[in-house]
Amino acid sequence: MDYRKQFFVSPGEKLSLAGIDPAHTGGQASAEEALPEIQKHVARMAELQALLYADGNQSLLVVLQALDAAGKDGVIRHLFTGMNPQGTSVFGFKQPSAEEAAHDFLWRAHQRTPAKGEVAVFNRSHYEDVLVVRVHNLVPKAVWSKRYALISDFEKLLVQNGTRILKFFLHISPEEQLSRFKLRLDDPARNWKISEGDYSEREFWSAYVSAYEEALSKTSSKEAPWYVIPANHKWFRNLAISQIIADSMQEMGLKLPPTRVDLKEIAAKYHAAEAAQEQRVAKTPKPADRTEKRGGKA
Ligand code: ATP
Ligand code: MG
Repeated sequence: MDYRKQFFVSPGEKLSLAGIDPAHTGGQASAEEALPEIQKHVARMAELQALLYADGNQSLLVVLQALDAAGKDGVIRHLFTGMNPQGTSVFGFKQPSAEEAAHDFLWRAHQRTPAKGEVAVFNRSHYEDVLVVRVHNLVPKAVWSKRYALISDFEKLLVQNGTRILKFFLHISPEEQLSRFKLRLDDPARNWKISEGDYSEREFWSAYVSAYEEALSKTSSKEAPWYVIPANHKWFRNLAISQIIADSMQEMGLKLPPTRVDLKEIAAKYHAAEAAQEQRVAKTPKPADRTEKRGGKA
């Protein structure tokens, strides 16, 4: 199954999240069955990241958005493990600091976009400014409603500069969210993840759904696609996202850069260095001889 086709949000078309089953598993029966395929995609992602870094002409931006406990952290932990930390960054977007709030809403996102050769993962993103901000009326409608177009222009700028953008909405049901909140409550190792906001934001579920539906359909495009990923089952979420990322990276036309030196010349230099090294070894007394001499002096 090509999950890029299946979960792509059609640009400009009205999106209904209620019509997408968060528990969908695409005919795959179990986590055990999916695991080898997930591992294959994760390995491809790692290989392609190394190539992206060596190539040095393009970059990848992965945006993760979701309601609380939908698994953004899990995606990062499971799927980006194979990537080299050199050339990869993850940034979590929290409530804006005073300095961030004193700038335009894209200012802080632009600072975290990936440089050529790099992969950047946004854990939440500039989309919060048309999601939480809209749901809680943090700015007037006249302000947030103009942001969809600004976001699309911003992403166009990144794409034209060689950035591949992939955006994922992790779609869970309210029941699944509650059962994950219970896990956080029951497991002392997860207590630290609980916040008051988890419960207060739940009250705004339908407002968030509307805000997501509009944001996704207004800002999905071929160049900066949104995917709605059924995420009640963590393993299916991982399978779909890893396939989409690996397939998209595969199509970036990444290649090793040409060799910058004359390989014949370098091979000759190598052989000369090797011969000199052998000569030095032949002339140097063995460690055992040196020990004996030192022993003699004492
Ligand atoms: P988890 O899903 O594990 O709870 P999280 O991403 O919710 O992780 P938190 O530190 O709990 O991380 O929450 C960050 C909070 O910052 C979110 O509630 C988010 O809505 C809020 N936030 C992010 N960007 C903005 C913004 N531009 N304006 C206002 N609030 C924002
Ligand atoms: Mg939270």
